Amino acid sequence: MTKVIKGIKLRLYPNQAQTNLIWQMFGNDRKVWNLMLDMAQQRYHNNPKSQFVNEYGMNYLLKRLKQEYPYLKLSDSTSFLVVNHNLALAFKALFKHRGGYPRFKSRHQLRQAYTGRSVCRVEAKRRMKLPKLGSIRTSKTGQLTHSKIKRYTLSYNPTGRYYLSLQVETEVEQLPKTGQSVGIDVGIADLAIASNGIKYPTFNAHWHEKQVIKWQSKFNRRKNIAETAVNQWNHSHKTIKEDLNDYQNWQKARMIKARYQKAVANKRQDYLQKLTTDLVRKYDVIVIEDLKAKNLFKNHHLAKSIANASWRQFRIMLEYKCAWYGKKLITISAKDTSRICSKCGFNSGPKPLKIREWTCPQCSAHHDRDINAAVNILRRGLKAVG
Ligand SMILES: [Zn+2]
Repeated sequence: MTKVIKGIKLRLYPNQAQTNLIWQMFGNDRKVWNLMLDMAQQRYHNNPKSQFVNEYGMNYLLKRLKQEYPYLKLSDSTSFLVVNHNLALAFKALFKHRGGYPRFKSRHQLRQAYTGRSVCRVEAKRRMKLPKLGSIRTSKTGQLTHSKIKRYTLSYNPTGRYYLSLQVETEVEQLPKTGQSVGIDVGIADLAIASNGIKYPTFNAHWHEKQVIKWQSKFNRRKNIAETAVNQWNHSHKTIKEDLNDYQNWQKARMIKARYQKAVANKRQDYLQKLTTDLVRKYDVIVIEDLKAKNLFKNHHLAKSIANASWRQFRIMLEYKCAWYGKKLITISAKDTSRICSKCGFNSGPKPLKIREWTCPQCSAHHDRDINAAVNILRRGLKAVG
């Protein structure tokens, strides 16, 4: 048994009173963030040499703020500690030149969230007890049995839904050893190509992706129409002004688009979960390339960003699953893996991407480009660990 930290996401179905309170809490977190940030700026303005107020200092100030703004007491107060922690991290990143100046938060942001560390409890199959909100309806809580909740994030996303993301500590049992090793190359048509010749196709969500594009253009058009209408109205009416937000139609299109986007992302994630679990079950040692140097694309920005996102997720999942289940993941340099003949080791130089099969000029072995690379990857990985 190994203890691991896992993320679990549930859908939330708040009633009206809970919805109001949730939005109050989103606002409160934003208020604390903006107040602390403003204070830091004033302080710097008054004396550029003054030290930045650290996390501890900010936490000390919370008591005062709650006296000044009593509505802050409606929140789970641990969420303010998380706000201060994040702000302190943002300043640390700034000082190390790893991030820009922290920004003020606006209530117009599409995604709203707060994170807390107070106790959450499972009450029933579809019910949890959350700090300040009390008993709330959720999606199935089954996956939470035998796990300890460390922190929770309640969020509202652009699809108009509420979610509860939980960080839980749980125990996983190691998987039985199989004595098998595999090298894996990643590609575009096939997401993963194994050294034993098995190809795992890239996840296909064409229909949903088409819907995303369709609703994006509807959104653009409707927004345009609304903007023109607002401008015309405001031009001829000096006293009663219209606002873009008075037009609901374009916002509806945005929401539908976001739902399809989310559906694509969820399906891809499910697919990757199944694929990586399957690999971790079958093999004790998995070798992959370091993908930083993977340069398969010239001008296909969309294909590139999608493939990159999938590969990144694929690797992250392999990493933690290997750690959980007692398997080994080896990462090797990608140099020349597609140029070297896996049979005799001859380096036949660069090959254009469209060449899918080739014959080694030295030993005349005939190769499938990707499988040959996967074999090289496996070999290099096993050599690295001896
Ligand atoms: Zn050869």
